[in-house]
Amino acid sequence: ARRPLIAGNWKMNGLKADGEALAKALAAKLKASPPAVDMLVCPPATLVDRVAQAVAGSALAVGGQDCHAEKSGAHTGDVAAVMLKDLGASHVIVGHSERRADHGETSADVRAKAAAAHAAGLVAIICLGETEAERDGGRTLAVVESQFAESLPEGASPDNTVIAYEPVWAIGTGRTPTLAEVAEVHRTIRDLAAKALGKDAAGRLRILYGGSMKPSNAKELLALEDVDGGLIGGASLKVEDFWAIAQSA
Ligand code: 13P
Repeated sequence: ARRPLIAGNWKMNGLKADGEALAKALAAKLKASPPAVDMLVCPPATLVDRVAQAVAGSALAVGGQDCHAEKSGAHTGDVAAVMLKDLGASHVIVGHSERRADHGETSADVRAKAAAAHAAGLVAIICLGETEAERDGGRTLAVVESQFAESLPEGASPDNTVIAYEPVWAIGTGRTPTLAEVAEVHRTIRDLAAKALGKDAAGRLRILYGGSMKPSNAKELLALEDVDGGLIGGASLKVEDFWAIAQSA
């Protein structure tokens, strides 16, 4: 059985005080009543250090939201995977649709970033998912298949890689695919993983759902056979909501 991962993507939200307070409140809840899931928060790069220090020694893991493919060099404004690791991060999100859209990241870029994460000893959370036009055009599975094939680096394993399926049109919109649609995409990703990594590895790979997950819909989404957790945006910024989602898994 796969242990669920409930991951919060704070996106570009949080100043020092509120980020630290949110992380500390979660760490305290984890300590008081450990849930049967792994929990992770991914603050903006500016807060990774502070949050990692605030929750050190707790079961709350900390991750980045992006990393550069290189270890160092002339890349103004970028953050290397090894720098996140140095701050105490254990995970990094790569290929989020907001980065694919806002920064023109291709699956080849995402693959290089995931490889850098692995080289730094971080778990890469590789995001993929279709746009609304792609879903309407009946191309969801084809898009997911090509993104998976092109974004997964050599050496990927269930120990260093998590896949997050995030339909772009479900992010921040309050809309979600039907449970049957989510189940179909997750099963497809598991099948693709079996071909790429072998059946045993695919059986251990965690595949998260992301896109308007909240306390009211988390239970039914997380109950699906191939949904092994969630990547939560808006609802991860409120302690009670994020905690309620973790309790639903
Ligand atoms: P929301 O939960 O705000 O829809 O965001 C999902 C997401 O993009 C997580 O990475």
